Order: sequence, then C-alpha cells, then structure tokens
Amino acid sequence: MIATKAYAAQNAAAPLAPFNFDRRDVGVNDVQIDILYCGVCHSDLHQVRDEWGGSIFPMVPGHEIVGRVIKVGSNVKRFAAGDLAGIGCFVDSCRTCPNCQAGLQQYCDNGMTATYNGLERVTKKPTYGGYSTQIVVDQDYTLKVSNKLSIEGVAPLLCAGITTYSPLRHVGVGKGHKVGVLGLGGLGHMGVKFAASFGAEVTMLSSSPSKEADAKKLGAHHFALTSDKNKMKSLTNHFDFILNTVSAPHDYSTYLNLLNTSGTMIVVGVPPTPSAVPAFELIMRRRSIIGSLIGGIPETQEMLDYCADHNIVSDVEVIDMPYINEAYERMLKNDVKYRFVIDLASLKK
Ligand code: NAP
Ligand code: ZN
Ligand code: ZN
Repeated sequence: MIATKAYAAQNAAAPLAPFNFDRRDVGVNDVQIDILYCGVCHSDLHQVRDEWGGSIFPMVPGHEIVGRVIKVGSNVKRFAAGDLAGIGCFVDSCRTCPNCQAGLQQYCDNGMTATYNGLERVTKKPTYGGYSTQIVVDQDYTLKVSNKLSIEGVAPLLCAGITTYSPLRHVGVGKGHKVGVLGLGGLGHMGVKFAASFGAEVTMLSSSPSKEADAKKLGAHHFALTSDKNKMKSLTNHFDFILNTVSAPHDYSTYLNLLNTSGTMIVVGVPPTPSAVPAFELIMRRRSIIGSLIGGIPETQEMLDYCADHNIVSDVEVIDMPYINEAYERMLKNDVKYRFVIDLASLKK
C-alpha cells in the first residue's frame, strides 16, 4: 500500500480538511503518478456538497490531474518514470461494451469508474481523486502530456478542456458558424478558446459585466451581458450553437430564443435542479438541445495533442491546498479567473 496525503470532506456539510489514506500497490498494468497540479472543477463542489445525490464520504475530489510518473507495472510500455501524465474524470470502465469499444468510455453501458466519488471495479473500494499527493491508475486510462505547455495550465484540460472540445467537435463547429458560449467560468473559458480556434465567430454570453475585457482576450469576438434586455433581443435567432456551461439553475427558454433555425444548444453545465424544456422555443425554429459528458480516452488524448500543437492552455489561479474552501466560496460568487489549480507541493511539505 502507498501512503497518500490528501484533503477530504467527511460529509456534505463539512469543509475540506487533511486526510490520509493508502493507494493500492502498483499492479502490472498500473502507472503511479506524483501529482503536481490538480484543477478545481465546479463538479467537485456539486459532489462535495452532495448536490447531485449519492455522494460517497469521505470524499477526496479532483479530476483534472497532471503529474510525473514515478513507477510503472511490468506490462506498461507507453509510460516510463519521469514522463508527464494526466488523469481525467474516470479511471476505469468495463472495456467490453459497444461504447467502451468505440472509445466512448464516458458512456460505458456498465458505468465508468469515476476518478473520485466512485467505486473501484474489483475491490468496490471508494476512489479518491487528485486533491492528493499521488495516484495509481491503469495505463489505459492515463493520458500523455506534452512538456511544451505550462503544466498548471494543462491540468484543467483534463475536464474543462475535453468537456468543451468534445461536443464542439461532435457538432462540427468551424468557420462560418456563430457560436454563443454561456457562462464564463472554467468550462466557458475553454469553450471560447476552442470555438475561436476552430474558426467560429464567438460571442460570450455572461452575467458578469466585469468579464467583458477578459472574454475578448480569451478569443471571443463579441460580448453580451445576459441581463441587458436590448442586447439579448438583438441576438434573437442569431446563433448556430450555444454551449451552455451554467452551473446554477436557469431558464433554458431565454437562450433557446437566441438560436437560429435548426440551431443547437449544447448543455454541459449540470445545475442541481432540472430545467424545464420549453416546447414552443424548440418547435418554432426546429431547435434542439443536446447534452455531452466529458470525452473518451482517445478524444481526450486528441484534445491534449491539439492544445500542444496550438499552444492552448487554461488561464489559471494557482492556489495552495489549504485555500480550497475559500476557492469554493469564490467559485460560488462567479469569482474565478478562470480555473483554480492546486499546487500539490503545498500538501507535500
Ligand atoms: P464555474 O467555473 O463555476 O463556471 C460557471 C459559470 O456559470 C460562472 O462563472 C458564471 O459565468 C455562470 N453562472 C453561474 N451562476 C449563474 C447563474 N445563476 N445564472 C447565469 N450564469 C451563471 O463552473 P465550471 O467548472 O465551468 O462548471 C460549469 C458546470 O458544468 C457545472 O455545473 C459543472 O458541474 C458542469 N460540468 C459538466 C461536465 C460535463 O461533462 N458535462 C464536466 C465538467 C463540469 P458568468 O459570470 O459569465 O455568468
Ligand atoms: Zn470536472
Ligand atoms: Zn463499457
């Protein structure tokens, strides 16, 4: 067993606090990673506070992990000690169902094994995430990370990056498309970067007036304040796609009205309470709503390689581990620019 230091929540009302546990020994197919940085996703907060139900405690969150390989099992050929490696939102899946076979492990028919707040397939022990000093993961669920980019900026690509890259690729966003990105947080800022990089004309739809200048710096061509009624009216029937990253309850109809004929709202944000789907806004212009969950292993590697080739990283505020509870409070106030990333050196001291 490998003694590991971490931060965990003991229950849905408790702040995160120091916690020690053991990782499994490195198996023949495993990669042991010394965690350098871990991004802070709004999903961490939803699950730590049990906003989606079914949370497993104690919980060590964190699924945007980048670190250095320190040991590999005897069957591992793709990684060696000293390599940079990444772990995203899941660490296993059944491998045999049609979705796993197609590289869409996130949609595994038998349920993927989440990096935290999940149960290991064989032992049924809880999985613990990246707010910790190290992790042991099967090589097939470990990603290669280029040393061309700043590693703290790469960490959020493992969730915020792939969650926005995957659906934008799936619907074929590119030149000639008008794309609205709703919500400028961790996911939203990556959505803007990818949509602009794919050649689309991007409008940031934000509830925060203070984010206008940043939105443009991130690559948005336009900015619209969602509380500005005239502005919103002027964007009626305007977009081909809206990437909806909002984490709090909100009304879909306001934003569906901004879609042109056959336009699509891509839902990636997961508010704790469901939003009603308004029939009129859908039928009037043959609009649709689709959802998307992170991305499979092959596409996550493709996204990481795309980012290395195009010099794309997340804009981050690096924090020490003990700051995490304050970081959560700031996240709830939409005060993140644009991803908190934990420097795990602060936990190893
Ligand atoms: P985040 O950094 O907190 O950003 C969310 C943004 O939503 C905020 O910055 C804010 O942007 C906007 N917002 C928040 N409350 C709002 C409200 N009441 N009305 C309108 N806009 C509001 O969160 P994140 O990490 O990007 O995650 C966003 C959501 O995606 C979360 O629900 C998370 O669980 C989910 N998620 C889903 C997947 C997936 O696979 N589908 C993966 C990761 C995360 P403005 O200030 O610009 O308005
Ligand atoms: Zn996430
Ligand atoms: Zn499967």
